[in-house]
Amino acid sequence: MKTLTIKFQDLGLSSSLMESISKMGFEEPSPIQAQTIPLALKGTDVIGQAQTGTGKTAAFGVPLIEKIDVKNNNIQAVVVAPTRELAIQVSEELYKIGYHKRSRVLPIYGGQDINRQMRSLKKNPHIIVGTPGRLLDHINRKTVKLSNVHTMVLDEADEMLNMGFIEDIESILSNVPEERQTLLFSATMPDPIRRIAEKFMKTPEVVKVKAKEMTVPNITQYYLETHERKKFDVLTRLLDIQSPELAIVFGRTKRRVDELSEALTLRGYTAEGIHGDLTQAKRMSTLRKFKEGAIEVLVATDVAARGLDISGVTHVYNFDVPQDPESYVHRIGRTGRAGKTGAAMTFVTPREMDIVKNIERTTKRKMERMKAPTVDEAIESQQQMTVEKIRSIIEAENLAFYKRTAEELLEEFDAQAVVAAAIKYMTKEPSTVDVKLTEESPMYSRSKNKGGGGRSSNNRRRGDNRNSGSGDRNKNRSYGSRDRNKGGSGGDRQGSSKRRYSN
Ligand code: ADP
Ligand code: MG
Repeated sequence: MKTLTIKFQDLGLSSSLMESISKMGFEEPSPIQAQTIPLALKGTDVIGQAQTGTGKTAAFGVPLIEKIDVKNNNIQAVVVAPTRELAIQVSEELYKIGYHKRSRVLPIYGGQDINRQMRSLKKNPHIIVGTPGRLLDHINRKTVKLSNVHTMVLDEADEMLNMGFIEDIESILSNVPEERQTLLFSATMPDPIRRIAEKFMKTPEVVKVKAKEMTVPNITQYYLETHERKKFDVLTRLLDIQSPELAIVFGRTKRRVDELSEALTLRGYTAEGIHGDLTQAKRMSTLRKFKEGAIEVLVATDVAARGLDISGVTHVYNFDVPQDPESYVHRIGRTGRAGKTGAAMTFVTPREMDIVKNIERTTKRKMERMKAPTVDEAIESQQQMTVEKIRSIIEAENLAFYKRTAEELLEEFDAQAVVAAAIKYMTKEPSTVDVKLTEESPMYSRSKNKGGGGRSSNNRRRGDNRNSGSGDRNKNRSYGSRDRNKGGSGGDRQGSSKRRYSN
């Protein structure tokens, strides 16, 4: 295999794009990017053929955004993508690439309120990322004007073909000025796509990249610097803000997993744990509930999670840093499967920072630093979810039946008070129930000392060995199952101090 040593610095990009790329944590262009970006910057039409996860979005996104004139308020580029999810995903990536240049991107897809889209269109986006049907709809209504478009991108062209969008795509392409650049991306090249290329592209260059190139595709990786005692509150706030569909929380030990799943349950999340000491039947039933969505948060040790094929996991939280970069890759491999995106959040205590460096070296990817959210941010985002819910009820449901009561209330109170009360009633406020977790000592990087050294340094301990009774001021709220630790986690380190967790 030919190794490409092209760097982003070699591509002659503007400083604002270089800044965005480095913020995004891209160190080197992926092969499809290294080959596509220079061609596309010259104005050549490009057909890019590569698997999912090879970085096709930035391959067209970088040259496309370089060509945007931010002072010009017209739509200058259009990206067509097969589904709403992909349109959103692409527009988010383009937003990041164009962040410092301040280019404006707008996703447009079916199912979203068309009036709201028209209002957004009035804000003069430079780039539109749309699904074929809805885009055509706007073109016909003349709410999207394509006369100034200089770049057209067809993303996941074969997928659009499979979904029966080929005619829509032809209509869209016939509405774009001929004086333009066309970029087409596809994992495969079936004949109808080839024909589109022949008909609508000008002597395109073909860039073909084989196999998967990225170690951890589709996963955005973050680390949060936090202290051992603050981790749990940080976790619950993140759960409130990110509201993951399916989340896995990784803990280092069996005891940790038991304590975390109980603590999460106390705070009102549906959580269950799996680890090596549970029976096969128990583990299977927990997993089944997780897959069916009856459990929001699965808490697991590395061993229990190994080899699990769980699809649809959107968020992985490394409550404790993994033992080594390989387990890290395993853990976050639970998410972002099958072309889906995922996010991985790793909690690191100040002493564990070299573990982050170590992981970055292994995965060849930068982890982004995320600030621990505040209580206010958690409440704010819960409120936003309520507001979204209210919006969708107003749009979707017949409320006639409730309107008289509403009128009565409005005669008695002013509208703001009524709405505020309704929002408060519907919003899940962060729980402040006290929970207790046994402290884990920090992990020390084992990189310099492959082999045995790690374990013994793990056992190094700071703090005192208080007896378990000493923290129990609030007896009726402490767990009734403390003694589970005796049988369950013989291998755990003993003697760490107990701490109270509260808001
Ligand atoms: P594709 O469209 O080929 O499926 P994406 O463009 O969605 O792939 O990229 C997959 C993931 O890889 C995204 O999370 C993206 O941010 C990331 N990525 C893209 N290019 C790079 C790069 N040069 N270095 C590191 N990560 C990258
Ligand atoms: Mg893509």
